[in-house]
Amino acid sequence: MADNQLMERAEHVLYKTYNRFPVVFDHGKGVMLYDTEGNEYLDFGAGIAVMALGYGDEEYTRAVEDQLHKLTHISNLFYNQPSIEAGEKLLEVSQMDKVFFTNSGTEAIEGALKIAKRCHYNMLRQSMGDGSDGCEDVEMDLTGEIIAMNHSFHGRSLGALSVTGNAHYQEPFKPLVPGIRFADFNDLKSVEALINDKTCAVIMETIQGEGGIYPASEAFIKGVRRLCDEHGLLLILDEIQCGMGRSGKMFAWQHYGVKPDVMTVAKALGNGLPIGAFLACGKAAGAMVPGDHGTTYGGNPLVTAGAKAVLDIFEERRIVDHVKETGAYLSGKLDQVVEKYAVVKERRGMGLIQGLELTGPATPVVTAALLEQKLVLISAGTNIIRFVPPLVIGKADVDEMVKRLEAAIDSAYGK
Ligand SMILES: *Cc1c(COP(=O)(O)O)cnc(C)c1O
Repeated sequence: MADNQLMERAEHVLYKTYNRFPVVFDHGKGVMLYDTEGNEYLDFGAGIAVMALGYGDEEYTRAVEDQLHKLTHISNLFYNQPSIEAGEKLLEVSQMDKVFFTNSGTEAIEGALKIAKRCHYNMLRQSMGDGSDGCEDVEMDLTGEIIAMNHSFHGRSLGALSVTGNAHYQEPFKPLVPGIRFADFNDLKSVEALINDKTCAVIMETIQGEGGIYPASEAFIKGVRRLCDEHGLLLILDEIQCGMGRSGKMFAWQHYGVKPDVMTVAKALGNGLPIGAFLACGKAAGAMVPGDHGTTYGGNPLVTAGAKAVLDIFEERRIVDHVKETGAYLSGKLDQVVEKYAVVKERRGMGLIQGLELTGPATPVVTAALLEQKLVLISAGTNIIRFVPPLVIGKADVDEMVKRLEAAIDSAYGK
């Protein structure tokens, strides 16, 4: 058993917005985690798709350690070298034009939404003629509408929550940002039906993560791109969970032959250091001007040194190719689990972001995996077991995981 006293103290001090599993993790090595009692766990959750390089990677640790001794923070009133280098690398792999570093995924979404609003505002002003110094003298509705998807997840700040298609998350915090309309993911007609002259952007995950691991269909994402082009809307793709190599391409949209105007990343970008980013290309890259947006910590030299190390290591070790190979292996093994168990309905996903949909709740399996099998898994929605391991796992880790997963399913649902 884990340290009961620590858990009791936690419940006294930490604001209760989570029901935590009864394990206190202490350290990690590679794809293994260790609790305070010394038990070893195989990790297929990666701290929610964050720990791409696993735990204790030497090259990454050295890069962060070096920067820790040099300079951790200076603010965005000055330049710092790691943020420039991390930014250059990120633009190179994303084919975007500009990047803004944030401290989290939800903040990256806030920035993306502000770009959409700013573009809409710029367009309205332009349509009034360049001589106008604003909309003050004319009665004008500035609301730019944004189309988001049902069952999406974009974060917990009020803007990101406003585009998160989950009534349960939204209800207690209304009113939220106005002008958000929800379409159905992978249903192009439902998007088209919501477009009017106020619409300024469409936001969606390329692969829905929290909603249950639903990849966009090719017809859908290409259709949304076409609608955005026809109506002058920005396409915002949220790659916070599915990006950074996890799908088997650096960014999941690169599978489809479409390109977003704005995209967001976070999770794996810092391999555990809190960093996110929004990136933009074309007119979206120039929409905001000095004074429009800012952050005290965002892009500080410590976290960007970490992100730069992650991007360097991705290149040196060909991590994305490794994901392609290991992801195909994992898919094959999970398909066998679907065949074998009546309670397992289907597999969905790409690369190393996979889900198994059950006919019943996932929590009993996830709990049995953790406590009985020492296998860290996470769920998505109520019925889906999510597999988002460190990207550096090997085939032997997949084999071991499947063994423990099957034992956990047996334990939770019977043989
Ligand atoms: C996790 C996640 C977010 C929010 O990121 P935080 O760092 O938790 O704020 C946004 N979008 C997607 C797709 C995510 O998976």
